Amino acid sequence: MAYTDRCRNFVRSLVREQFIKKIRTMNEYLNSALQHPRDQIVLVIRRIYKHGHTTTSGGNISILDENGDIWVTPSAVDKGSLQPSDIICVKKDGTVTGKHKPSSEFPFHKAIYEERPDIKAIIHAHPPALVSFSIVRKIPDTDVISQAEHICGPIGYASYELPGSDALGVVIAREFQKGHMAIIMENHGTVTGGTDLTDAFQRFETLEFCARTILNANILGTPGSLTSRQIGIFESQVFNYLPEMEDVSYPSDERERRSEICRIVHRACDQGLMISSYGTVSCRWRENDFLITPTNVARWDLKPEDIVQIRGGKKEPGKLPSRSTWLHQEIYRQNPQINSIILTQAPYLMAFGVARVNFDVRTIPESWIFLQDVPSMPFGTHFKGETAILDQVASGITALIVQNDSFIVTGQNLLHAFDRLEVAEFSAKSLIMSKSVGELKPINEQQLDDLRVAFKKMIPERKR
Ligand SMILES: [Zn+2]
Repeated sequence: MAYTDRCRNFVRSLVREQFIKKIRTMNEYLNSALQHPRDQIVLVIRRIYKHGHTTTSGGNISILDENGDIWVTPSAVDKGSLQPSDIICVKKDGTVTGKHKPSSEFPFHKAIYEERPDIKAIIHAHPPALVSFSIVRKIPDTDVISQAEHICGPIGYASYELPGSDALGVVIAREFQKGHMAIIMENHGTVTGGTDLTDAFQRFETLEFCARTILNANILGTPGSLTSRQIGIFESQVFNYLPEMEDVSYPSDERERRSEICRIVHRACDQGLMISSYGTVSCRWRENDFLITPTNVARWDLKPEDIVQIRGGKKEPGKLPSRSTWLHQEIYRQNPQINSIILTQAPYLMAFGVARVNFDVRTIPESWIFLQDVPSMPFGTHFKGETAILDQVASGITALIVQNDSFIVTGQNLLHAFDRLEVAEFSAKSLIMSKSVGELKPINEQQLDDLRVAFKKMIPERKR
């Protein structure tokens, strides 16, 4: 290689490294209790923009301060490069401080705060899947996935009014007056409220996820929803059944796993493979002891100290491990070769779980080698005391879909499980996208036999 080419490559690698570092520092934690409203708003608008839920000019976020001031995104400033100094403060007496004009949609933010003293943060945007519902004038069902109805509540519907007008403020505030925390705006978008910005973001992201899942499930077949009884059982799951340990120690190998789990959770959120309201990651520590993510902590903002240690069948005191802890515990106990488990709602995989159709991985060699069969299990088989999933895992199954709930994948380590998750989601996406151009023509038996011979070491072994 010529000297100039080597120099150019070196500079490129430095730039790439700087870029990765920049992305990582941008992935800060949202702390609605301690962060300044302007920092919270910038962090959330970046997330929303990065995930394609808003355009450069669309969408706005506000936070109501304790003294009655409203912090809000500015009008006509690029959402992709918004800085804390761009955020506007509208004082209780109406005076505006900041270097821009407040969002043109500010009137409806104000109207909601006046109507609902319990709401302290509002997100408005035009995310494509929810806009799809708004332009055909429908509300997405939130009972297609387990936690969504609880997170989103009943969804309101505001009829069309001129953007930025007081009339729009009136129809939106009227919907929130009925007790709704989230609404669809006719031929426009969505508004979600929250007791703080973490709460409003979780609701926004979960509602958009439901909409996307339904749209994709419709391509595969007919979306199936959960009954209120099934949702009730999910919400009342006993996740606090483990006794607390008396003495806790945090050796360095234990701490290392905490950080690894956080990195994988953040990576899954960044890559669109996990949403803040659902997902469990665990990692074996010593023998059958393991570390697992907690329940009720927003996944985007998970920190090492939130992770729960499970040792000798007891949990770290004062913490609530994931609802699925029992399942993780049993998988580790019965399968010594498994050291990591990820349970998540990835959008394309969940479309298969909601349409309840077979996920055929005989698409490309990589998918089949990595995953083999991915069974679809009925909702409820992942609850404490159920053995159907354990039997599948014991037989050598590495990944499975729990209908209307999640995708579960195991691995020799966290990265291994994460890799399988990515391969599965890519395959699911390809299968859904291919529907508009033709039927899947899977790899044939002879081609599978050739893969079995050539990739013997990589193919998960089936026991029965
Ligand atoms: Zn708008």
